[in-house]
Amino acid sequence: MEVNSEKTFYEINVTEAFRTVDADVILWGEDLYDAKIVLYPKKITALPGYGEIKERLVNAGLVYFNFRTENFIKFTVVRWDEVTRRIYIAEGNFNAIWKYLRNSVRLGIKIKQKNGESVSIEKAEDIIDLSNLQRKGSGAVIKDGQLVYEAREVSESERLALGRKQSALDNQKNRYFYSKFGDRYHDKDCEMIREIPPEDFLASTVVPEGYKPCRKCCRRVYLRKACAPYVKQIRIVDHILRKQGITDSQLGKYAFEYGLKFRVDEAGDLVVKGKEDTWIIKAFDSGKLTLWHNNYVKTTPEERYITSGFHNQGMEGKKLNALLEYINDYTFEKHLAAEERAEQEKAALEYVAEETNQRISAIEQTKSFEAGGGQEERKELFGRLKNFVKRLFLKFV
Ligand SMILES: [Zn+2]
Repeated sequence: MEVNSEKTFYEINVTEAFRTVDADVILWGEDLYDAKIVLYPKKITALPGYGEIKERLVNAGLVYFNFRTENFIKFTVVRWDEVTRRIYIAEGNFNAIWKYLRNSVRLGIKIKQKNGESVSIEKAEDIIDLSNLQRKGSGAVIKDGQLVYEAREVSESERLALGRKQSALDNQKNRYFYSKFGDRYHDKDCEMIREIPPEDFLASTVVPEGYKPCRKCCRRVYLRKACAPYVKQIRIVDHILRKQGITDSQLGKYAFEYGLKFRVDEAGDLVVKGKEDTWIIKAFDSGKLTLWHNNYVKTTPEERYITSGFHNQGMEGKKLNALLEYINDYTFEKHLAAEERAEQEKAALEYVAEETNQRISAIEQTKSFEAGGGQEERKELFGRLKNFVKRLFLKFV
């Protein structure tokens, strides 16, 4: 049998047909042998793990052919993730596309085989991911090229486990999700959750002991912690942190070790809540960040209360990670200790100055020093005075 590439034959016609279509790429059925078609019920935004993939999704024109009609080039604009090579199609749209697309996918397998290349699927249906379509009493299957639901036997224990998994996911207090047989925990939105069998599924409000964060969703776990309880802040906070080059492990440290809380205010500034104090980091657009600290009033030498408004902390030109380290390090107690140290040092310097002055006057009063020794001593003392003035200047100005 003749095996001819549709792409080679119709590329010009298809490109022409796509001139006015809003699509970033054209997807050919014959190239999909290593891709997946993920079917979802209702809305794509409700897919588990959607938060992870949405930035990568682009519009793609999926091409297929109905050679029984004159206008045989057909296409649908679908959402496409180039990184994982996944096409997302709502289940309601699938049958109309697959009726024709399956022929092109089959052709792709044949082309590979004809060229003596290995291909990991046997039949066109193997590229379809139905795992989002499993319902309690029925399962989705592809039958004669069409998506249908077939009644499925569900045991009582299976039904209970499924119900438990769902209510654990729905419980707002639960933060970490994991399998009793794994060593990684996941965010609620992680697509790996789907893979955990309901009977092994566990959830917790605290990080489960002996478990590490999943590599796929750890950033979202950290963001969820740092933005809690304002889940809606996650996206915008992450946008700023990414732009400033904050890595996953830095973010993990800020969220879990330092306990910093992040929020973006109406002005687009990053509000950071540290141990006791609140800070605002501004001027992300200018590239020269400024750090603002909440105002406070000292009630006694060791006590204060926080008042409204913010003052500039004088930390211009520092990178975001340096500012966050500074924020974590700041406590009012440390601030007082630093003030105390500065006071003591100032007193010590003043003492040296006084002493030096006295010695100079003493020398001048004797008026009996000789050309050699006396000059030397004066020079040394003036040197010390100069040094002192320099230190004083660096310290307090
Ligand atoms: Zn995960």
